[in-house]
Amino acid sequence: MENAGGPTVVFIAGEGRSGSTVLDRCIGSIDRAASFNEMHEIVHQFQRNQKRCSCGALPQGCYFWREVFADQILLAALPELIDGFERYDGSRQTLRLLAGAYGRSDRVRLRRYGMLTAHLYRRIAQVAGVSVIVDSSKNPSRALILKRYARLDVWCLHLVRNPVSVAESWRRSKGAMDDNLPTYTQVQTYKRWMLKNLVCEALQARVPYRRVPFETFTEAPRDSLRDIKQWVPALRGKQDGFATTSEIDFGPFHSLQGNPDRFENGRVEIRTSSSRPLANSGMTPIQIWFASRYGYSR
Ligand SMILES: [Zn+2]
Repeated sequence: MENAGGPTVVFIAGEGRSGSTVLDRCIGSIDRAASFNEMHEIVHQFQRNQKRCSCGALPQGCYFWREVFADQILLAALPELIDGFERYDGSRQTLRLLAGAYGRSDRVRLRRYGMLTAHLYRRIAQVAGVSVIVDSSKNPSRALILKRYARLDVWCLHLVRNPVSVAESWRRSKGAMDDNLPTYTQVQTYKRWMLKNLVCEALQARVPYRRVPFETFTEAPRDSLRDIKQWVPALRGKQDGFATTSEIDFGPFHSLQGNPDRFENGRVEIRTSSSRPLANSGMTPIQIWFASRYGYSR
């Protein structure tokens, strides 16, 4: 049974640097929806109070998060939420979560963590005045926790991007304001890209699932968003922020963790991300075969 009164969560799963910030904010532009980027980090970042919210304030100085955590149950549950996150919410936990392979004490703890997480999402939706939340935490483990233990109405978009573009992006350092992202070599990225996407595919068995190639999305972003709105019942028939077929208005929002692009607001043009050839990219034959299943050509 789904959590009564809980918001609908559009969850973006996939490898980092696949364009999730853009997709996240496009969905967040829809009426009665709001995006918060990588939501698995909210509690940590609020408690640490070192990295800025995308509105420019420190988390504990941001009026939005102050209001969210004015809820005494949540405030008291911060240590438990952090503990649950550290125990269960990471890539390494995904297969265990998929199988539900936990002993009794873990199951009790997971149920409690799920209940508190549902409380957090309900509170965020209430303060934001929305009924749909966009969470681009990307780790499949999070989608499973939201669905199975928080019992929220979760809709998963598996965002896939051409691995050559992803590897190129991870090679460059990227930092702005308070976000500094690590760099990875091509070989490291190709390995992670395949594993992460493979595990994301496994979500199909547990959550309503739809695959979105980033290149297809950027080719016709307004039409692609219309398809997503049609797919998620809570978004059907709602207005969105597109001003033209490729330009969209991003309003200020409150994200505590994500790509440095989260600090940009105003009218943004979504540029087409073209697909790159896989041959001579340094990928192994198995990786090339795997990527070609998503329609990327050699
Ligand atoms: Zn803020």
